[in-house]
Amino acid sequence: MIGAVDIGGTKVAVGMVDDNGKVLSRVEAPSDPNDYAGSIQWIARSLRETARNAGTDLTGIGIGSTGPVDPITGEFGDVDFLPGWRGKNPVKDLEQMFNVRVALENDGDAAALAEAGWGAGRNRKRLIYVTVGTGIGGGIILDGELYRGVDGAHPEVGHQVLDPAGPPCSCGFRGCWESLAAGPAMAAWFRDHASAVSERGDGITAKQICEWAQQGAPLARKAVEHEAYYLGLGLANLINLFTPDAIVLSGSVMKSAALFLDGIRAVIRSGCRFVPAEKTDLMLASLGEDTNLIGAARVWHYRFARQPDSVECRPGKEVYGRAGH
Ligand SMILES: [Zn+2]
Repeated sequence: MIGAVDIGGTKVAVGMVDDNGKVLSRVEAPSDPNDYAGSIQWIARSLRETARNAGTDLTGIGIGSTGPVDPITGEFGDVDFLPGWRGKNPVKDLEQMFNVRVALENDGDAAALAEAGWGAGRNRKRLIYVTVGTGIGGGIILDGELYRGVDGAHPEVGHQVLDPAGPPCSCGFRGCWESLAAGPAMAAWFRDHASAVSERGDGITAKQICEWAQQGAPLARKAVEHEAYYLGLGLANLINLFTPDAIVLSGSVMKSAALFLDGIRAVIRSGCRFVPAEKTDLMLASLGEDTNLIGAARVWHYRFARQPDSVECRPGKEVYGRAGH
């Protein structure tokens, strides 16, 4: 039984997850951006409480966290939402408190591992996980291995530039995928194009726009078309770059995926002509609201409990071996 810890910018969730990816008990609380010491104590108490509630002992702890975090050392980087956590190391701290092995990954990577291991992407060796909500993030799995950049860095699929003349992004560029197609971008596009003040609605969300589009409201339908176009462009870039077996789509905006999928596919068909784009399956994530918590547990399995890949999955050594003779 793995204790799972999902550290987000607004909340921290803790739970017990069994070997099939099922959440047996969970608790959550708002994140404290400044008080790391208090937060790690709460996490430790919650791990004990959820283990008790599930009637089990902990065999390990997995953590998925908003980034940047260092998956190898376990250290927190300069996380926008959690300034007081910088330089802290929950992996070392929890290892000392519980005397079990602890593993940490970026939450996008954790969720990608969960969908690849227990969810929609099971048995897909080349899989890209994309979550579209208040931002756009994800994780890349190639030949069954989580893809890491230099020094274990997490690639940011949401910050690929689609339109250098587009809206400014927190990263410094303009027209990133995130700034064009995340939920707030869809709402902003709608507000900009609403002619009547009454139509505008300050607190409007992507979810509401999708509901109006389903009812046939013309401007909402245009917003959906625009959204599908930019979702499609970003996904087309990923297909051109990686030609994956599958892309697993998740996040609050993708709850309305039925509205976007035809438009997304049309964009992909219109441009991905030099790769077998029709072989990349677009799939919806299957683990639901607890994907990140389940992902945190999967991080532990990925790090410490993996079966060695079969020969079929690792042809490289065989081929090179033969070539040497
Ligand atoms: Zn950006």
